[in-house]
Amino acid sequence: MTPDLSQAKGTVAFWLREVRNSLAACDIETAELDARVLLAHVLGCTPMNVYLQQDRELTESEVGFLEKLLARRRQREPLSHILGEKEFWSLSFKVTPDVLTPRPDSETLIQAALDKIRDRTAPLRILDLGTGSGCLLLSLLSELQNASGLGLDISEAALAVARENAERLGLSERAIFIKSDWTSALARKEKFDVILSNPPYIGLSEKESLPPEVREFEPERALYSGEEGLDDYRKLITRLPDFLAVDGFILFEIGAGQGASLKELLSNAGIREIEIIKDLAGRDRCVAWRP
Ligand code: GLN
Repeated sequence: MTPDLSQAKGTVAFWLREVRNSLAACDIETAELDARVLLAHVLGCTPMNVYLQQDRELTESEVGFLEKLLARRRQREPLSHILGEKEFWSLSFKVTPDVLTPRPDSETLIQAALDKIRDRTAPLRILDLGTGSGCLLLSLLSELQNASGLGLDISEAALAVARENAERLGLSERAIFIKSDWTSALARKEKFDVILSNPPYIGLSEKESLPPEVREFEPERALYSGEEGLDDYRKLITRLPDFLAVDGFILFEIGAGQGASLKELLSNAGIREIEIIKDLAGRDRCVAWRP
């Protein structure tokens, strides 16, 4: 049942409960948090500060706005699409349905890259393949004052989002975004010190087990890669060594439980230096390698 919010009056505390109950009734596990985030969006404050306004009554137009947001979330639209942004590496990224929503798990790649870079003031060249929102490349550039980067994506719509994010973060002078089917737009002689990619890696057979927020709202091209989720890794593994500078390294995001498969793919390609890095939850999340 959808509550008719527009008829009701109530305080912030009242609406927090209403929205939470309404989302919980749709089996949304994060109902409590989502309610707070939606209220914060309506009130124009941070989720933390919603509680400071518990006793304030919502205006009619605020209730109308909240009703629209709630209806969208009840359809399982991700919060990142409803709000149009998502935090990653403590930075705010614009998000649209054309890009994969940045996930906390992917911060593992940023930390791994920073751990491997010996001199963070060096003028490093970074390549990000399948850049999407640009979150990996731009987060890394935000930590490396003298680095510059190239983000590639096959989707023009995604590139527009990435360019806007570079602008928002004041990084557009150090980041270029170009349309490319994996490495197709790269000139043979180009070399990079750090190569990153969060390619699609979900197996088509897993599609039905994904949450509706992902399955129904995120770009398929950013999610699936053949039956086992490994097709794009195969392409990247053969193509990337040509573009790696001496002493450079390559980082891929991988799915939880894909560590063994990646080790095998890389070993079969003759790669000797392979390191699997886990995320904060202890799951395989990143493979670092170099030819
Ligand atoms: N980690 C994402 C998920 O599980 C998938 C991202 C990807 O395929 N690169 O939803």
